[in-house]
Amino acid sequence: MATKYVYFFGNGDADGDESMRAELGGKGANLAQMAKKPLSLPVPPGFTITTDVCQEFYKLGRKYPAGLAKEVDVYLAKLEAAMGKKLGDEKDPLLVSVRSGAAISMPGMMDTILNLGLNDKAVLGLAAKTGNERFAWDAYRRFIQMYGDVAMGVDHDKFEAIIDEVKAIRGIKDDPELNVDELKLIVEKYKKMYKKEKGEDFPQDAKVQMWGAIGAVFGSWMNPRAIKYRKLNNIKEGALKGTAVSVMAMVFGNKGNTSGTGVCFSRDPSTGENVFMGEYLMNAQGEDVVAGIRTPQKLSQLEKENPKVYDQLCKIRARLEKHYHDMQDMEFTVEEGKLYMLQCRNGKRTGAAAVKMAVDMVAEKLITKEQALLRVEPEQLNQLLLPQLDKEAVKKATEIAAGLNASPGAGCGQIVFTADEAEAWAKEGKKVLLVRKETSPDDIAGMAVAQGILTSTGGRTSHAAVVARGMGTPCVCGCADVTFKDANTIVVKGKSYKKGDFLTIDGATGKVYEGQVAVKPATISGDLETFLGWADEVRAKSSRTTASGQKVKGFDVFANGDTPKNAEDAFRFGAKGIGLCRTEHMFFDEPKLTAFQKMIVSEDTEARKANLAKILPYQQKDFYEIIKAMKGYPVTIRLLDPPLNEFIQAESKDQLKALAEKLDIKPAVLAAKVAALDEHNPMLGHRGCRLAITYPEIYEMQVEAIARATAKLDKEGVAHEVQIMIPNVVSYREVEQIRGQAEAVIANVNKECGTNLKFAIGSMVEFPRTALIADKVAQFADFFSFGTNDLSQTTFGFSRDDYGKFIESYLDQRILEDDPFATLDPDGPGALMEIAEAKGRSVKKNLHLGICGEHGGDPASIALCYKLGLNYVSCSPFRVPLARLAGAQAVIKAKK
Ligand code: ADP
Ligand code: MG
Ligand code: MG
Repeated sequence: MATKYVYFFGNGDADGDESMRAELGGKGANLAQMAKKPLSLPVPPGFTITTDVCQEFYKLGRKYPAGLAKEVDVYLAKLEAAMGKKLGDEKDPLLVSVRSGAAISMPGMMDTILNLGLNDKAVLGLAAKTGNERFAWDAYRRFIQMYGDVAMGVDHDKFEAIIDEVKAIRGIKDDPELNVDELKLIVEKYKKMYKKEKGEDFPQDAKVQMWGAIGAVFGSWMNPRAIKYRKLNNIKEGALKGTAVSVMAMVFGNKGNTSGTGVCFSRDPSTGENVFMGEYLMNAQGEDVVAGIRTPQKLSQLEKENPKVYDQLCKIRARLEKHYHDMQDMEFTVEEGKLYMLQCRNGKRTGAAAVKMAVDMVAEKLITKEQALLRVEPEQLNQLLLPQLDKEAVKKATEIAAGLNASPGAGCGQIVFTADEAEAWAKEGKKVLLVRKETSPDDIAGMAVAQGILTSTGGRTSHAAVVARGMGTPCVCGCADVTFKDANTIVVKGKSYKKGDFLTIDGATGKVYEGQVAVKPATISGDLETFLGWADEVRAKSSRTTASGQKVKGFDVFANGDTPKNAEDAFRFGAKGIGLCRTEHMFFDEPKLTAFQKMIVSEDTEARKANLAKILPYQQKDFYEIIKAMKGYPVTIRLLDPPLNEFIQAESKDQLKALAEKLDIKPAVLAAKVAALDEHNPMLGHRGCRLAITYPEIYEMQVEAIARATAKLDKEGVAHEVQIMIPNVVSYREVEQIRGQAEAVIANVNKECGTNLKFAIGSMVEFPRTALIADKVAQFADFFSFGTNDLSQTTFGFSRDDYGKFIESYLDQRILEDDPFATLDPDGPGALMEIAEAKGRSVKKNLHLGICGEHGGDPASIALCYKLGLNYVSCSPFRVPLARLAGAQAVIKAKK
């Protein structure tokens, strides 16, 4: 059987449905579903050409598969029959829209053409048939504009310039004020300009128009905007088959004051509140609301103007939520008092809204807790941890204007007026606030780097608002008090602000403040606390069997933290332990640094020990505070890791002299020391436990500091669980020897303090060899911690400090799918971890395994760690909430 390329919808039925999202695209699938029983919503009929055609189109070098044209003819005839009109008919033309839609919604990324089928004769027929000449000419001028711009690449501004020119004749402000003659004039000027630009007349044959539009939609799949969007949103090229094309009968919101068009959300996408909200523009066509050209009115306006339609819409809101079990974003049009549904999809939402809706919908029994946990993207949680304006600072701040609260969070920066400026300034390290009349898809790169976005027109569903919410960038839009004076100046209520001046916006309230207003970090409470509590529950109850046949229960989130402040943050964000406490940072401030440097340049062991003894009390104090802050949760302390030359930096002669003076040695002696410490490849040099093999006293001092700090807490009755971790292990003999030395130190402290402390002593696994001999290492190690930064470095042979030069090319050419330092590679380091797990646990059944590399905060890597049977992941304190959720999602998805 030949592949079916085209699917019909409308008239209470459809031959596809939502299960065909991959083929019909989100838009096409949902149109079919809405049209079909049991929903049977009023959807104008149409047909959808599948994403398979898009895939073929590119495979065949931008040609359509054989048989498509015939199939389209069949469905066009079906559509014409359903509507009782014919495409291209001069008396009563069928007009259609040609719309794009991939399986994942990519708002505003691909272009829709409306009113297709009009030409010089059909426009007269339409006018006569509808008895509305103005409407017919307005539709025609819109069509020429969209077709010219979207399908034929004629610059949008050229059309706008003509409109402005004609408006200027009578000094008109708004498009709806244009009369029939002016619209006719616009059409004439459009066509002339089109001919000049394209070297041919505007196409009059409706079928030529239709295929031109279909080709443009398929072509738009690979336009730079769409590619950029996919890149920004981590949608891999090839992950989707492409876009589908839906051709559907037009309905008209621009037929006068009983018509209109709108967008609505079944819940507030900004706050998550269970209120119906949306925007409505009377006497307007679809694009007008989304493009932010006119600032629309609230839904309550529709309620006043046409309570019956409003009531019908409210019922549809409830039915669609019940059907999709999720918040819906809906497009509708009212044509002379009759309601039509043009689109529905699961609505985009802010992080805060996502969490609130998930929690509310569980209470409403619309979804289960597990479904709720899958509703929030881990990265979205970052938005809830967004800085908020400091309440005290706000009291003193000068509010200069207010717009719509389109995307929450506080943003403060120097104002710039173009996306290019935003990019350029951000590159220089400046914090910018992007101020625009409205934004368009071309502005995406600039929006991505801005601290916040402020627009003067457009509503909560405008491009700026939708994109900002997706990015988690604070946004205030429709702020009419902002006017643009010239390229470098805006005026707000009579006062000028120049490019580079500071403004602050509060995306939660819509307020705009002069200058820089102080911001405060957020906390975990309310719905977020409930939500993350569910995530913790799911992880705690989880259990899986690893490839080696081990049954592992639970999956914890720890944090990496080196300071008492980090430990407090980690605890506050819900970490169940510290997976990596680096001790080297503790040496970087005075007087520890000097003592440590003296230790390094010491002539003999005695001098080294004397200097180490000076550092001991400082380290002890740091350890004491960190362990205390974690209130009995495990704290994994890594013994000294970096090469010693990092502490002795003397690039110039002057620096050398100064350092020698400080350390009280001769410059020549110091110079010799510096030269001796110099390494060609410090990453693979004298570092980690190799230091302890040559200078055992360093680790002995650290272990003593740990033991004494713990002993002190023990006596104070404070809970503690401390683990000692040895870095850069390549041989089990290293662990055996260092463990022996550490245990001797601990025994001494126990004896002296009268305590009975025991410490788990474990090994890092950061080199292939360590993983391969994990069974031997496990004989001497109580736990493993995978240092996946080094493990990725040494498995790939990519230096993390140098790979920036080539990684982009590797990703662009798809030699690698992911940056191995951002996402743990399952085939390289992941495979080694699997070996280490199996070998390690073959010796110690309950060997505790964790990860402390950067990957511990990356959702895909977290899922891999779960699968590999790790007991915990550890990440930076601010990513802990995200990891708590990502871990739970890994558990839920693994069950399916
Ligand atoms: P996008 O994916 O950018 O939202 P859409 O395909 O949804 O693009 O179309 C853009 C606008 O045109 C929307 O407001 C939509 O409701 C409107 N529209 C699309 N098809 C029709 C139609 N057949 N009749 C009336 N309006 C339409
Ligand atoms: Mg749409
Ligand atoms: Mg390392």
